[in-house]
Amino acid sequence: MENSLLRIAIQAKGRLNEDSMALLRDIGIKIDESKRKFLAQAPDFPLEVLYLRDDDIPQVVAAGTADLGIVGLNEVAENSTDGTIDGSPLQIIRELGFGQCRISLAVPKAEPCDSPAWFEGKRIATSYPNILRHYLSGIGVNALIEVIAGSVEVAPAAGIADAIFDIVSSGGTLVSNGLKEVEKVFHSQAVLVACGQLPAAKQPLLDELLFRIDSALVSRQKKYLVMNLPQEAIEQAVRIVPAMRSPTIMPLAAQGWYAMHAVIEESQLWEKIRQLKAIGAEGILVLNTDKIIP
Ligand code: ATP
Ligand code: MG
Repeated sequence: MENSLLRIAIQAKGRLNEDSMALLRDIGIKIDESKRKFLAQAPDFPLEVLYLRDDDIPQVVAAGTADLGIVGLNEVAENSTDGTIDGSPLQIIRELGFGQCRISLAVPKAEPCDSPAWFEGKRIATSYPNILRHYLSGIGVNALIEVIAGSVEVAPAAGIADAIFDIVSSGGTLVSNGLKEVEKVFHSQAVLVACGQLPAAKQPLLDELLFRIDSALVSRQKKYLVMNLPQEAIEQAVRIVPAMRSPTIMPLAAQGWYAMHAVIEESQLWEKIRQLKAIGAEGILVLNTDKIIP
């Protein structure tokens, strides 16, 4: 029966832990955090969760010690430039939409750095030497890569490096260290990775898990709209909000009025609401969707 249990590695603590747990919770996999150990079994799905440092996740999944993992694309790229780790294939099977950040080159504010050629012969401090080396060789620049595990942003002020190559999200850390971002090199988000050699017996479990993950990911970008419409606005409203197949229209108790229910893309929400109000929609409710199964 050992083969019929999937094992997923997630970050034990840090920036990806909470969103990774939230995704599992969204798909009905609830781990009791108070009883959390290194390895925890989910009560309602044949899955166990292995809590690791994010650096270790790509390798553990490629080796098959875990079948799946949730990790930043930056860690995947740093540990594997050709889709394998120590000869074992690692597959990126879903982009998860959280943990967004970028890895950028940054230099002291006063430096007149206006092209990548500035980095020729310079010392660059980073925790991502492989991604940096790959980038520099692609643009034909030779620089000295200084590998530092943490607090990369202090390296220029400490005289250890002329520039840094580090994770940026808002840019606040750079500014407070007197640095400016000059080149956005690598865009990252959390991804679901899978062992390239998943035992066949586990495939149906993975399919079920992916089905649930997809329905949760789709629903995160959608909103459920409910509104009241006068009869004469219905035709236009259906054109504004075509919904999944078509919106649901139900008569209200008040003569000549209808309720319309529809699911729309969150990115279009405010534009659609403006159009619907313009044709006479009233009492518009916007609700979150939990799962969407197309
Ligand atoms: P661990 O103890 O697991 O090794 P860590 O200190 O290496 O943790 P975190 O700082 O928790 O890593 O970041 C984990 C991942 O979160 C990063 O690799 C990156 O993919 C993502 N991330 C998103 N935004 C940021 C950010 N502003 N700074 C750092 N990482 C970010
Ligand atoms: Mg780490």
